[in-house]
Amino acid sequence: MNAPGSSIRTITVMGTFATIEVVGEASDPKQIAEREEAIERAFEWFHRIEACCSRFEPASELSQLARQIGVPVPVSEILYEAVQFAIAVAEESDGAFDPTVGAGMEARGFNREYRTSRVIHTGIAARGANYRDVRLDPKRRTITLLRPLMLDLGAVAKGLAIDIAARELASFAGFAIDAGGDVFLGGCRPDGAPWTVGIRHPRDGRELIDAVRVSNCAVCTSGDYERRGAGGVRHHIIDARSGTSATMLASVTVVAPTAMIADALATAAFVLGPDEGIRLLERHGVEGLLVTPTLQRHATRGFPSDYSILQDTKGPADDRLRDPAGDGGADRGLQPDIWCSR
Ligand code: ADP
Ligand code: MG
Repeated sequence: MNAPGSSIRTITVMGTFATIEVVGEASDPKQIAEREEAIERAFEWFHRIEACCSRFEPASELSQLARQIGVPVPVSEILYEAVQFAIAVAEESDGAFDPTVGAGMEARGFNREYRTSRVIHTGIAARGANYRDVRLDPKRRTITLLRPLMLDLGAVAKGLAIDIAARELASFAGFAIDAGGDVFLGGCRPDGAPWTVGIRHPRDGRELIDAVRVSNCAVCTSGDYERRGAGGVRHHIIDARSGTSATMLASVTVVAPTAMIADALATAAFVLGPDEGIRLLERHGVEGLLVTPTLQRHATRGFPSDYSILQDTKGPADDRLRDPAGDGGADRGLQPDIWCSR
């Protein structure tokens, strides 16, 4: 039997590093070529979704949408999917999470395109709009902005890209997609064990605060240490209701069946704080670990902390993680209908 191995590649995209690893036999040239082609296709999705959903790129579909107020604008399936999902999370979080924070983010110094450092200036007022000013028409697949506003899909686009990339890799026995610490783990590692994901200590980047072992699910973290605005004093997750940086938590990690759910719910729970955050995650049947600035831990009831999983020889790659609600996915309000055709 051939030795297990894997193909790994890293690119820069969406303001971060993205790494894909696909498990297979180390020495079979045909398999190696297949893995590399699949990785290439998976990365193409990251570029495509960034080109569509970036508020930093004047030519992106998102920026073009912001220049058409009061008219239904036909949009791509990618943009529609991302905006529709972000609006659903806004409704679920009573507007603490709100994708119309774009102009507010810009005013707070999150206004540079990461590749060129070019400063963007949309001229759109930071306050006054919220997610109710965005109309969606699923039949015609149009989006109408009822007043001037800038959408920011920073909390959902990376997750969507990871999920669509994961579809490209679904036929492999094991793969890992890591985009700036937000990950999706498919199948098993080269040694046949479930993947282990370390959760960073929010106040000491060299340490882990926990670890989870997972298979076929996403693990995404929102932390106040990730990005800082002008002057470095405030971080990049704001309470959309007040327009100020959310301060109740230092980090939130969510384990969910898809990266878009994990990515967005981590950001939403970060804004809501420990009590409401846990309620939001439990309502949607996903698991999470919320850490406060004083390092108090708040976890959902089923959070798969590695310490407990180590005692369970079957590991966490069980149905509870693939289907956290245990209901086959029924009635999950946020279950995204991810577009995956090409
Ligand atoms: P990261 O980009 O580090 O993965 P998150 O997934 O938590 O971090 O997303 C943070 C991003 O979400 C911000 O950079 C911004 O684009 C967007 N954002 C910030 N606050 C909100 C909010 N209240 N509602 C929706 N999106 C937000
Ligand atoms: Mg994220």
